[in-house]
Amino acid sequence: MKLPAEATIYEVAPRDGLQNEARQVPTADKIRFIDALVAAGIRSIEITSFVSPKWIPQLADSAEVARGVHRVPGVRMSALVPNKRGLDTALTAGMREIAVFMSASETHNKKNVNKTIADTLTAFEEVVPPARAAGLAVRAYLSTCFGCPYEGDVDPERVVALTQRLCDLGVYQVSISDTIGVANPQQVEDVLGRLLAKHPSAAIAVHFHDTQGTALANCLVALTLGITTIDAAAGGLGGCPYAPGASGNLATEDVVAMLGVAHRGHLRRT
Ligand code: MG
Repeated sequence: MKLPAEATIYEVAPRDGLQNEARQVPTADKIRFIDALVAAGIRSIEITSFVSPKWIPQLADSAEVARGVHRVPGVRMSALVPNKRGLDTALTAGMREIAVFMSASETHNKKNVNKTIADTLTAFEEVVPPARAAGLAVRAYLSTCFGCPYEGDVDPERVVALTQRLCDLGVYQVSISDTIGVANPQQVEDVLGRLLAKHPSAAIAVHFHDTQGTALANCLVALTLGITTIDAAAGGLGGCPYAPGASGNLATEDVVAMLGVAHRGHLRRT
C-alpha cells in the first residue's frame, strides 16, 4: 500500500469535540486537556472558537483558553473565527492561526451561519485578507462536502468551485469535511481526485465523522491519494450541533492505531 511518508494529525477535540458536550467543561480542564494533547505529541491543534457565546455557549471562555494554554515551539494552535469581530478577539488573545468555516450546501450553510453561501464568501473578505495581512495563517472548513442533512447529495463540482474560491481568498488549506458522516471510500476518491487535480496535497485536508463507521476507511483512501493532514479528535469527541444525526469525529487514537506507527502526533512510517 502506498502511503505518505509522513502525515499530520490536526487535532480538533478541544473545539469540535467540546462544543458538542452538553455539559460546560471548566476552563481549567480545557487548558489541561490541550496541554495534555500537546504533551502527547500533537503538533497542530484547534483549541477553541471565537464565535458568539450565544451560538456556542460551551466555548464562551475562548479568550481565557487561548491565553491559558502553554505555547510550545513547533506546535500550531488555531481557533475558529466566524467574522471580523472574532478575528479581532483572536488577535487580541494572541492567536497566530485561525480557521473560517462554511458549507458546500446552501441549506446547511444557512442553518449553521445564518447566511447564504454568497454572503458568507463576501463576509470572508473581511476576515481572511486582514488576517493574512496581520501575519496569521488561515485555514478553512468546507462542510457537507459528501452529503447534506437537508439537501442530500452534494455536487462534487460545488466542492471544487468553493475550494478554489477559498484558496483564492488566501487560505492555506481547505479541510474537506464530511459533516454528517455519510461519505464512502469511492466518493472520497472521486471528490479528492477532482481537488488534487487542481491543488497541491498540502492545500487539502480531510475531516471525517464516524456516523456509519466509515471514517477510518475514508481516511485511508485520502492517505493513499497523498493527503497528509487528517483532522481527528481524541476520543472521537464531537459532531455538529446543526447537523442532525452527526456522530463523533474520526478518533485520533484510531488513526494512530491504523497507521501502526505513532511518532508523537506527527505520524511517520518506519
Ligand atoms: Mg467534526
